[in-house]
Amino acid sequence: MRDDIKALTRPELLTWLETRGERAFRADQILKWLYVRLADRFEQMTDLNKALRSLLTEQFVIHRLGVADTRTAADGTRKFLFRLTDGQTVESVLIPERDHFTLCVSSQVGCAQGCRFCLTGQGGLVRNLNHAEIVGQVWETRKQMDDPGQLTNLVFMGMGEPLANYDNLVKAIEVLTNSDWGMKFATRHVTVSTSGLVPRLLDLGRDTRINPAISLNAVDDATRSRLMPINRKYPIADLLEACRQYNLPKGRKLTFEYILFKDLNDGPEQARRLAKLLAPLKAKINLIPFNPYPGSAFDRPSETRIEAFKAFLMEKHFTCVVRYSKGQDIMAACGQLRGQSGKSGSGGTGATEEPS
Ligand code: SAH
Ligand code: SF4
Repeated sequence: MRDDIKALTRPELLTWLETRGERAFRADQILKWLYVRLADRFEQMTDLNKALRSLLTEQFVIHRLGVADTRTAADGTRKFLFRLTDGQTVESVLIPERDHFTLCVSSQVGCAQGCRFCLTGQGGLVRNLNHAEIVGQVWETRKQMDDPGQLTNLVFMGMGEPLANYDNLVKAIEVLTNSDWGMKFATRHVTVSTSGLVPRLLDLGRDTRINPAISLNAVDDATRSRLMPINRKYPIADLLEACRQYNLPKGRKLTFEYILFKDLNDGPEQARRLAKLLAPLKAKINLIPFNPYPGSAFDRPSETRIEAFKAFLMEKHFTCVVRYSKGQDIMAACGQLRGQSGKSGSGGTGATEEPS
């Protein structure tokens, strides 16, 4: 079987060219066709000589993710269900903003972290995505858009824990943000959300210049450990210490995500404690009212409670936004993504898929 050329990293492509006596600059020509012009056939690469084009065709394919399904919500949000070569699926969500689009990208099939409020976490981890499958979601989405240039922002907030698939994540970020031969996303427009894998968080600051977002969701260890098992390994103090040390590009802030659960973490005492915890950091806060799914065990607070929580943080001079997730009617909101196995439909009970 021929390999997917996009599964090669740039150094691997360079080596391949070198062993065939080709000049090094050919690598960037090929990469530009793949990632800038979104070519899906080697014949399109007209600035390569015919011999090289035939050699590439013999050895490689330009693989595209299968689009198993797309759904459009009433608010214009589009959810893509992508099929991978082994039949597994992942979801990506294209969110229209005022003057651009944001794509919510998946990093794993399923997730091993087991957060109690998240549908993705209910079935455990199936497998990591390789870097080409991560980039492939963005590539295929751009292919589907009338104006691909309007997709300028990426958030790694789809299925999976990005930092648990670190090497593939970093390789994908390189392709997505390279401004010469890559997909040219500005690093300030790329956000990676994590449940808090402390050592990897510090690595991320060293290896990339993207924006980190930390899913805090609770202000005391007892509550956070109950909601997010990862907290038993990396408790709040360790996580915030890593945030303090994070090598943040100039002028940026760390984003903290805080899901608001009714009667669990939405009171004035928690707001006070959150402000105190984050005061020493360059932090902005995204409040996400809990998004329910069939079988979920939590409720979202009333608007009054949500607004009061936000008002308190604003008074303490935090940048604070309530993220009313879009695409709720098609199960495209935060925490509602699961993908779909061959047998079961999406949007089911959320606990039917077995980890492999
Ligand atoms: N694994 C990463 C990124 C994917 S989850 C992480 O946990 O950060 C993206 C965001 O969705 C996280 O902030 C998570 O806390 C939030 N989330 C998960 N389930 C949710 C739900 N049911 N309602 C609202 N937000 C949810
Ligand atoms: Fe995994 Fe994030 Fe869901 Fe937790 S919230 S189970 S880390 S995807």
